[in-house]
Amino acid sequence: MALRGGLRMETVDVYTERGDLVTCSDCGKVMLLPYGADKCPACKKEGCLVWTDESLREADIDSLLERHCNLHQKSELQPEEYLSLSILVTEYIPYLADKPQTARETLFLLLETGSLFEKYWRDTRCFQSENIYTPAIKTLLDKLDVKLREGDTIPVEYQDCRSLEDFFRVVAGERPAKEEVSFSSDKEGNYYFNGRKVKVENSDEYAYRLLKTKIQTSYRRPVDFYFRFLARFGPYGTYGNVYYPSITDLICRRYLPETAK
Ligand SMILES: [Zn+2]
Repeated sequence: MALRGGLRMETVDVYTERGDLVTCSDCGKVMLLPYGADKCPACKKEGCLVWTDESLREADIDSLLERHCNLHQKSELQPEEYLSLSILVTEYIPYLADKPQTARETLFLLLETGSLFEKYWRDTRCFQSENIYTPAIKTLLDKLDVKLREGDTIPVEYQDCRSLEDFFRVVAGERPAKEEVSFSSDKEGNYYFNGRKVKVENSDEYAYRLLKTKIQTSYRRPVDFYFRFLARFGPYGTYGNVYYPSITDLICRRYLPETAK
């Protein structure tokens, strides 16, 4: 707090030698954070940092000592601790894409990025197929494809709709999945539903064609087939999969006979 005569006796949590001097409007901490920070590392809230002092936005340790601040040295931060996801997925793509260890974690990050993509659409009213989040989404799709081909699984929400009423309740988001079916692939690009192998043949004639023990599809990558026919949400926002849950149910029933009971 400011004392009379301009002398300050604030306690400042110091995370960097020089950066932005900010106060968190949520938890009240005063911090010296790396430049561009938009997330509070103490309470993890986004969009709540304000300049502590308009006349000293950017500061270093010396300038704080000159002001007689009480400095608390903190350990160095990882980017995700002081930057929001929307900055990470536009400015730290390789770093961020390296973080998820499993296919599921990659899928989760992909869907989070997909909601940012969709929000950007709504906010800017600029409904183009590409925006600032497209490069991150493409990178994460590539990574998810590699993970799937290594045999790592992601979930398919099998709904088992038996009536039109069921169908509309799913579309309205009012019906939980009947069961989770795991989906993965292998080096040849075949599919596995709950570990059961279904051979895949690429063919430009069919978007998909379900044969007894194999699928013909024009989609070259398992990850693209997944988002086209098996996922509820698309990688580019929640308008996502127009075939959900009808074709997803059909495919699950076809290759998981025990599920269809
Ligand atoms: Zn805070």
